[in-house]
Amino acid sequence: MTYDPNNIFAKILRGEIPCNKVYEDEYALAFHDINPQAPVHVLVIPKGEYVSMADFTADAPDELITGFFRAVGTVAKELGLVEPGYRTLANAGAHAHQEVPHLHIHIFGGVPLGPMLDRQFSNN
Ligand code: 5GP
Repeated sequence: MTYDPNNIFAKILRGEIPCNKVYEDEYALAFHDINPQAPVHVLVIPKGEYVSMADFTADAPDELITGFFRAVGTVAKELGLVEPGYRTLANAGAHAHQEVPHLHIHIFGGVPLGPMLDRQFSNN
């Protein structure tokens, strides 16, 4: 899992490309998705070179892992999503159609979001 320092989110982290920022601290940056798939669609990315959940949780310092997940919760709260509810999602690799190879957690909200996945694999 080689990290590409020229991926689009690395450029956003370095300030080379603008973003519509909603939150930032020393561990994480959160910004609106450029192509929203819900009324609220925010991406939260860690400040470090990690492709996805596997390398992040294996290699990142504990402080960054804690700070990053705390930021996800803080962003959901600051966006007013806790009471109505929301969804978090992190795509990894080809089967999940991960487009940007820098770990990111999507936060979706603002409307009832429907079922979690296509029901084609469900027995119900
Ligand atoms: P993935 O499929 O990798 O989980 O999701 C990547 C997300 O990044 C997509 O929802 C896409 O709309 C978003 N995205 C791609 N390029 C940019 C960009 O330059 N700026 C922002 N704000 N979002 C982007």
